[in-house]
Amino acid sequence: MQSNEKFQRNMQKIQSKIEFINKALNYDLSQDQKEWLRTQLTLFTSLFEALQDSATNDEYGQGVSEDLYENIRRVKKKVIFWLKMDSTDVDIFKKLKKEKNETWIPLLDLIPAPERLTEFRNADLWDFSFPCISYTNQELCQFSETIFKEQNVLSEFQISSDTLNKIIKMICFEYNSPTYHNFSHGFNVFQMFYALVKKTELEKVLDKTEIFAALLASLGHDMNHKGYNNAYESKLKTQNSVLYFDSAILESMHASILIRILKDPEINFLEGIPDLAKRNQFRDLVVAVILATDMSKHNKLLKKFTDSVKATVEYRNIKASGESIDKRLEEQAFLMDRPHDKRRILKNIIHACDIGNPCQKFDRYIYWSALLNQEFDYQTKKEAKRGLEVTVFMKYKDPAAFYGGQTFFSKNVVFPLWEQISILFEGASEAVENLQANLKRLEEEKAKATPAN
Ligand SMILES: [Zn+2]
Repeated sequence: MQSNEKFQRNMQKIQSKIEFINKALNYDLSQDQKEWLRTQLTLFTSLFEALQDSATNDEYGQGVSEDLYENIRRVKKKVIFWLKMDSTDVDIFKKLKKEKNETWIPLLDLIPAPERLTEFRNADLWDFSFPCISYTNQELCQFSETIFKEQNVLSEFQISSDTLNKIIKMICFEYNSPTYHNFSHGFNVFQMFYALVKKTELEKVLDKTEIFAALLASLGHDMNHKGYNNAYESKLKTQNSVLYFDSAILESMHASILIRILKDPEINFLEGIPDLAKRNQFRDLVVAVILATDMSKHNKLLKKFTDSVKATVEYRNIKASGESIDKRLEEQAFLMDRPHDKRRILKNIIHACDIGNPCQKFDRYIYWSALLNQEFDYQTKKEAKRGLEVTVFMKYKDPAAFYGGQTFFSKNVVFPLWEQISILFEGASEAVENLQANLKRLEEEKAKATPAN
């Protein structure tokens, strides 16, 4: 893309963000917040006008416009953060759509949001199907705190309750509000992993560094996702696609933001771990787990995981019989006292939680899927608008095609991975049972939605 073209696009994006801030002045915000916004607005408007007047639509102008866009985007993010704390992510998404006079796919009106629990108890967080999408971001932050505290991270890592609260809020802040990849999704993956920890022997075999790193990584694994996938970032030659050489673009960005948060002077968490080896282990685990959520690695990861699970079963059987164990088998099996093996397990199970909606009760699963379909469909609209090749499989067609697509994904992508997890950890079998029940239900829903010829 020519620098002139990029400059023009940045200017359009800045203009739309200025319009957003203008509208935000009418939102239900405090006087202080509005005052701060007015100052920002004056500053941004004058910079925007100066850029327009100077007509520096060359490479230099492009760079300046990119910086301005980045700054104004942070301000929008802050406004949305203020709003979303007291709202669910679905409400925020609908509010923003209505303001832009944009519609959503009809499926989202057909499928109701899951019910909140009539009474919440901490033990509900051990449930694979906890209906987190129906809770406000403030509530999800509180639940996150409860989970971290239950795992004793405060005493283990010498951090104060206040610091923990700041880390969670910073993570929540870094999430945007696309339909699916928002803080609720990050929380969903985090809480599903926690449920696995509580229901299986993971709680016993993982040490506190591993648990804390994996919990943090899962909570923050999609920060700053804008609702477009890696291929889209690549096609558009975004800053991140250039920065990460078109490889695991989004995942690299999510991981780098999390490391930046942990190094923030207000938090200074990483430097607070005095043992250098432990600090490195923590950071490496966080990064490895987030990078493993890249869907393009799924097949390779699953193949190796399946081989190792098979070897583990064989290893356990031979060990139980008292016979001697072959060195190669011992090498290939997962042994829970080897950190490298636990790291591989964590990469697989957090990736499994990331695609784990089909393992939840039907109403929660299908609502998440409808939200994801909305996000996919929106990307195809943007692709068409920008003259890019439209990703056909992401385009929403009708309920029958939707249920058919869900069956394919649940059966061929999600099931094989969760099946292996349930072989390794018996406590995960409930998730596989949910998935099997969902497959039946999907067939029924598809039949209902298919018009008779
Ligand atoms: Zn995710």
